[in-house]
Amino acid sequence: MKEKLKLVSTNCYSFTNSETNVEINVYLNPRLFQDFVEDEAINQLYNASLLPGVVSPVIGMPDIHTGFGLPIGGVMATDYEKGVVSAGAVGMDINCGVRLITTKIDANEIDKEKISKILNKISSRVPSGVGKSSALKSLRKPDLDAIANLGVEYFLRAGYGRKEDLERIEDKGCIKGADAGAIPKSARERADQLATIGGGNHFIEIGRVSKVFDEELSSRFGLFKNMMYVLIHTGSRGLGHQICTDYSRIMWEHSEKNGTRAPVKGLACAPVFSEDGQNYLKAMACAANYAFCNRQLITHFVREAFVEILKRPESELGLDLLYDVAHNIAKKEKHGKKWLLVHRKGATRALPAGHADNPTCYRDTGHPAIIPGSMGTASYVLVGLSEIYRTFCSVNHGAGRVMSRRRAKSEFTKEELLEQTKNVVIASSNLKALLDEAPLAYKDIDEVVFTLVDAGLTKPVVKLKPMGVLKG
Ligand code: 5GP
Ligand code: MN
Ligand code: MN
Repeated sequence: MKEKLKLVSTNCYSFTNSETNVEINVYLNPRLFQDFVEDEAINQLYNASLLPGVVSPVIGMPDIHTGFGLPIGGVMATDYEKGVVSAGAVGMDINCGVRLITTKIDANEIDKEKISKILNKISSRVPSGVGKSSALKSLRKPDLDAIANLGVEYFLRAGYGRKEDLERIEDKGCIKGADAGAIPKSARERADQLATIGGGNHFIEIGRVSKVFDEELSSRFGLFKNMMYVLIHTGSRGLGHQICTDYSRIMWEHSEKNGTRAPVKGLACAPVFSEDGQNYLKAMACAANYAFCNRQLITHFVREAFVEILKRPESELGLDLLYDVAHNIAKKEKHGKKWLLVHRKGATRALPAGHADNPTCYRDTGHPAIIPGSMGTASYVLVGLSEIYRTFCSVNHGAGRVMSRRRAKSEFTKEELLEQTKNVVIASSNLKALLDEAPLAYKDIDEVVFTLVDAGLTKPVVKLKPMGVLKG
C-alpha cells in the first residue's frame, strides 16, 4: 500500500481509489514517510474510501497508526444526506479529548515535592486505572437524561466549576441531539465512572510552557513562558466503549438490511438517516457530553488540589480553562456548500480564525488545538490556518505510536522508562504497567507537529514540557 503513495505537495502523499474516485491523503514529512511501516493503516484508509457517500479526501494525519476499522489519526467525511455514519470510525473512546488549564504559577517556584503532593491530592479524588469508578458515590449513578440535555451546564449548576468555563469547551460542553433513551442497557451499567481518568494513555499532567512561538497569540491565550499548565486527557470511559461496541455490532448485523455492507467489521456503518444511524448519533452525543462532564469534574478537583497544597486562593492561581477539544467524534459540519458528517478518530478539530463555529472568545484567533506528545517529551498548542480546509479543519491528536503496546512492554525496562522521563514526577503505583507509555513508544512530537506546520496547515503557539504526570 505504501508504494502507492506519491508526494503531491509539501508533506502530503496521495493516491486515488479508482473505484470511487476518492483521494487518500496522508500527511508525513520525508523522514516520517521513510520510517513509516504500517501498511495496514493505509489499507484502512483505503477501506474507508469505499464506504457509501464518502467525500474526498480520506485523510491520514502524521500521527497515523493502525486502529479498529479506521486508523488512529484518521479523518473520514461523509455526505450528511446520502452518506453513512460508522461507530468504529469514531472509535471506542467516544469524545476522548484533552483540555488545557493555564495558571499564574511560576514553574520555577514549584519543586518536585510540591508537584508530587498536588498529584497525590488529585488522585485521592480522581481515581485512575482501567475499570475504576467514581470516588464520590453521588457520581456513580448520574442522571443521564440531564447529561444528555444539559451537558457540562448540569454539573456547573451543582457547583463543579465556573460559569466562564462553558464557552471554552467545544460545543459549550453539550452536543445537541443527545438522547439517553438510545443508550443500550449494557452501556448504561457502565456509566459509573465520572471524574476518573481510566487506564494507559489517559493522564493528568502538570508542566511548564517551555517555548513561545507566537507572542501575540500566546498572550491572548494566557500562556506565558515558564508558567505552569495542567493537561487533562480522558474520555467517556466504559460508557463510550460499550456504545461503540454495541452499535458496531448492530450496524454490522443490519448491513444487508441497511444496504451498507462495509469491507471490514471495524467500519460497520449505517445510513445517517436510518434508524440505526440516528440511534447511534443520539447515543454518541450522550457519551460525548458525559466525556465533557468527566473532564469538567476532574478540572474542579484539580483546582481544589492546587488551592489546598499551595495554600493560595483560586483567583491568585489562575487555573483558567483554555479549551477543551474532542479527538474521537463525528460532527455535522458545513464544508463549502455541503453538510458533512466528519468522523475524526484520533484527530483534532482546529477551526481557523473567522470560522463561525469558534467560541466568541476565539472567533478572531481560531480556537486553540491541544496536541499531547508524551510524558517525557513535549506537547503543543497550535491554531489552524486557512489551508486547514484541506483536512476538513483537522489536525493530528498526538504524537502517535511507533510501537504497539505489547512491543513497548517487552522492549523497555523500568530503568529505561525512568531515563526517558527524567525530571518528570510520575504518580503511579505501578511503573511496570506504564512501560507501554514510554516516550520512545511514540513518534517524535516535533516531527509530527511540524509536518502540518510546514504543509501550511497550522501555526504553533507554544510548546509545553511535562513536570509531573498522573497515569492510569
Ligand atoms: P490517544 O488519544 O491516542 O490515546 O493518545 C493521544 C496522544 O497522547 C498519544 O498519541 C501521545 O502522543 C500522547 N500522550 C500519551 N501519554 C501522554 C502523556 O503522559 N503526556 C502527554 N503530554 N502526552 C501523552
Ligand atoms: Mn485520546
Ligand atoms: Mn481515550
